[in-house]
Amino acid sequence: MKKIKISDDTLVCPLCGDSHLHMGYVDTYIRDSEDNEKGTHVKVHGHDIEANDSMYGNPCERRDGVTISFTCESCNNVSFLSLGNRQGETKLGWFHGYQEQV
Ligand SMILES: [Zn+2]
Repeated sequence: MKKIKISDDTLVCPLCGDSHLHMGYVDTYIRDSEDNEKGTHVKVHGHDIEANDSMYGNPCERRDGVTISFTCESCNNVSFLSLGNRQGETKLGWFHGYQEQV
């Protein structure tokens, strides 16, 4: 997971460093219990809301997590800002797909 870079209170693209990022959708994952493959997943994309019990895409492999997608206006990269619980702490970082977890 790449570290977050902030320039003058502005989030910047993890690939090119441009500050023109457009927020896409937000995914929230709440596990039924630690290590459980089921829980509550809610995706908000514009005015659309989807909900299911899958933890696929959760940036945290054992607990709860949140991802927010951003598209860079300069390089068109899509990155995911993620928050996840790990060993009692909340980790924040970028990742570029659903393979990497906090
Ligand atoms: Zn970029």
